[in-house]
Amino acid sequence: DAPVLRKPSWIRVRIPSGNAVANLKAKLRENRLVTVCEEASCPNIHECFGHGTATFMILGEVCTRRCSFCDVAHGRPKPPDAEEPFKLAQTVADMGLRYVVVTSVDRDDLRDGGAQHFVDCIREIRTHSPRTKIEVLTPDFRGKGRMDRALEILATNPPDVFNHNIETVPDLYPNVRPGADYQWSLTLLKRFKAQHPDVGTKSGVMLGLGETMEQVENTLRDLRAHDVDMVTIGQYLQPTPHHHPVMKYWTPDEFKQLEEFGYALGFTHVASGPLVRSSYHADRSAAEAGLV
Ligand code: SF4
Ligand code: SF4
Repeated sequence: DAPVLRKPSWIRVRIPSGNAVANLKAKLRENRLVTVCEEASCPNIHECFGHGTATFMILGEVCTRRCSFCDVAHGRPKPPDAEEPFKLAQTVADMGLRYVVVTSVDRDDLRDGGAQHFVDCIREIRTHSPRTKIEVLTPDFRGKGRMDRALEILATNPPDVFNHNIETVPDLYPNVRPGADYQWSLTLLKRFKAQHPDVGTKSGVMLGLGETMEQVENTLRDLRAHDVDMVTIGQYLQPTPHHHPVMKYWTPDEFKQLEEFGYALGFTHVASGPLVRSSYHADRSAAEAGLV
């Protein structure tokens, strides 16, 4: 049976307030765009918006997969909105963002998994905001021929950073990520890097789903062995009681230990801490790694 754990003190966060965030939120409303920052009630929103960083969700809010930790709706998504790349680019310019992360739900219904829409967004953002750095956080493009097509399309307009989250250790995949495949995700990261040696690659792991320290270390080894440059490691928090239970709150010391382990493996940047999210300090991570 799953434990019901009390949140430790290092997890409780301050509710941010202030005009900067309110103004940016108003701009988002005008353009009807969705940020993960708001949707996931991310504890870092104040800091990120204040730094000119935000994470946008494209290709709709309905996913074709059903991961046990994820709060996104599941079902049949609508066709991609052809206006979205332009609206997104305008919002990024209006918000004056310096670093933008673009992500999406899984689109197993699309032949290219949504790759062309990602590329259209990259192109529009670059047109409107040539100095803004763009990180994409993509699905795994799993399916017959889909990874080949997606990589070909991404090559026409590559991002500044390519991020794809491995999320958890392989033993937990059947339970936590049905529909995904651990080795497939590693292969995607490796192939992208081989195709674009100058573009930074990045992945992320969530802790607290039932994994052991040894398993996490092995996953970090696997990521390095697939030429991933940067990694984020954070605590999983249960979005609702119907989602995967938190099996453990990893301590700040354990996160620190993993950070040191990651650097020893040769990652150029490791962000490891209870509140770290895939896009947390994305701008600084990429800069410190010398990638943007
Ligand atoms: Fe948004 Fe990511 Fe920052 Fe959270 S960590 S506020 S999701 S950019
Ligand atoms: Fe959520 Fe991504 Fe899994 Fe879809 S594929 S359910 S968006 S984590």
